[in-house]
Amino acid sequence: MLFSKLLLPTLKEAPQEAEIVSHKLMLRAGMIRKVASGVYTWLPLGLKVLRKVEAIVRTEMNNAGAQEVLMPMVQPKELWNETERWEKMGKELLRFQDRHDRDFCLGPTHEEVITDLIRSNVKSYKELPINAYQIQTKFRDEIRPRYGVMRSREFLMKDAYSFSVNEECLDNSYINMRNTYKKILQNIGLEFKVVKADSGAIGGDASEEFHVLAENGEDTIAVSTGSEFAINTELLLEEGEDIKSLEGEDSPDGNGVIQIKKGIEVGHIFKLGQVYSESMGANVQTKEGRPATLHMGCYGIGISRIVAAAIEQNNDERGIVWPPTIAPFDVNIIAIGFEKDEKIAMAATKLYESLSHQGYDVILDDRKTGFGAKIKDSELIGIPMNIIIGKSFVENDEIELRTRDGQISVAKIDDLKIIFNHYK
Ligand code: ATP
Ligand code: MG
Repeated sequence: MLFSKLLLPTLKEAPQEAEIVSHKLMLRAGMIRKVASGVYTWLPLGLKVLRKVEAIVRTEMNNAGAQEVLMPMVQPKELWNETERWEKMGKELLRFQDRHDRDFCLGPTHEEVITDLIRSNVKSYKELPINAYQIQTKFRDEIRPRYGVMRSREFLMKDAYSFSVNEECLDNSYINMRNTYKKILQNIGLEFKVVKADSGAIGGDASEEFHVLAENGEDTIAVSTGSEFAINTELLLEEGEDIKSLEGEDSPDGNGVIQIKKGIEVGHIFKLGQVYSESMGANVQTKEGRPATLHMGCYGIGISRIVAAAIEQNNDERGIVWPPTIAPFDVNIIAIGFEKDEKIAMAATKLYESLSHQGYDVILDDRKTGFGAKIKDSELIGIPMNIIIGKSFVENDEIELRTRDGQISVAKIDDLKIIFNHYK
C-alpha cells in the first residue's frame, strides 16, 4: 500500500465529542468516522485492524472445534415471542415492520435464531455437542452510545452457542470456550482478567467476563494479589458500601488481598442451561430413547470493542502503540525524497516488494512531505517498525530502523533480511 494513495484522513486534534483516548486516537488516526450516533464507518486503516482481530478469533474458534455459520441480522417477532423476549427486551431491541406490516427486529443477539435452527435440524444425542458461531454485525439501541466503537449501537461481535445433551457436556463446552477466549486475548497480546460475573436475570450458575485492563475501563473489578482470581465488584458490594472499602480486604478465594482495577469487558461467557431450549422446545433423543431438553451455553466477544480496548491499553502521547499482532501494517518504509531521488525510489520500491512478497503487511510512505511529518503519522497510527531510507542511504548505503517504542539502529540494506527473520 502506498501512503499517498491511502484514504487516511489523519487529524492533528481530536474532535470535541471524543472523551477517552481510544476514541480520540481512532478519529485522529483516520480509522473510523461517525455516521450517526453509535454508528460508524470503518476506514481502510481501521478495517485492517478489525479484520486482524477477526482472523485471530476465527482461527481459535475453529481450533476449538466450533463451526462457523452466518445468521440474519433481521429476525421475525414470532421467534422472540417464543422466549417472551419481544416484550421483555425493552428499547435496546430495535423493532420495525416490513411492507406487509409484519414485525421484525435487528438482532442484538441470536439465541432464538440458533435454537430454532438446532431444534429443527438436530434430532439425536449422537449429533452433539455442537458449538456454532458467527462473526456478525449486531444492533443494540443503546441508551447512551459513547466512546466511539467501545459502546456503539452497531458493532461487530463473535457470538457462539453450544448445545449439549447434559450438564456435564455443557461444562466441557464452557471450559473449552473459556480456554479459547484466554488464548485469543493472549494471542493478540493484551493484559486481561477472567472475572466472575453476575449471571443476571437468566440465573444459572456460571458467567464470566473477560476484561482488558485499562485506566478508562467502565467496569470496576476486584483482583486478588495472590492468584488469578477476579470478580466484578457488583458481586461483592453490600448496599451502600463504597468500592474503595474493598481495597486490601481478604480476597474471597483465600489468596492474598483485593486490589481494585478498571477493566473493559470484551467478552462474556455464559452457561444458559435450559432456559431457551425449554421455552422453544429444543430436544434430542437420548441413548435410552427418551427426549431430553438441550443444555445451552453462549459466548460473546466484541470484535470492534477489542480494537478500542487494545488502544486504550496501548498508547502514549504520540499515538497508538499496537500489539504487533493486530497492527494495521507490520512495517512502514519511510522514503525521504522519494519523488526526487531515483536511488531512494528504487531501493524503497524494491524493499517494499520484497517484504510484501515475504508476507509482511507493508506501507510505503512515498508522500512529498519531510521526515518529521512522516514519522509523526507513523507514530500516530502505531506502526511497530519503520525503515527509513534517506540521505545516509544515498551517501553510504545506510538505512535506519526505528521501532514504535523508540529503539533506533542503523543497518545496510542487505542486512535487512536477517533482521526481519529475527523480527517476525
Ligand atoms: P455491556 O455490559 O458492556 O453492555 P453486555 O453484557 O451487554 O455488555 P454481551 O451481551 O455479553 O454484552 O455481549 C458480548 C460482547 O459484545 C461484550 O462483551 C462486548 O465486548 C460486546 N458488546 C456488547 N455491547 C456492545 C456495544 N454496545 N458496543 C460494542 N461492543 C459491545
Ligand atoms: Mg449491554
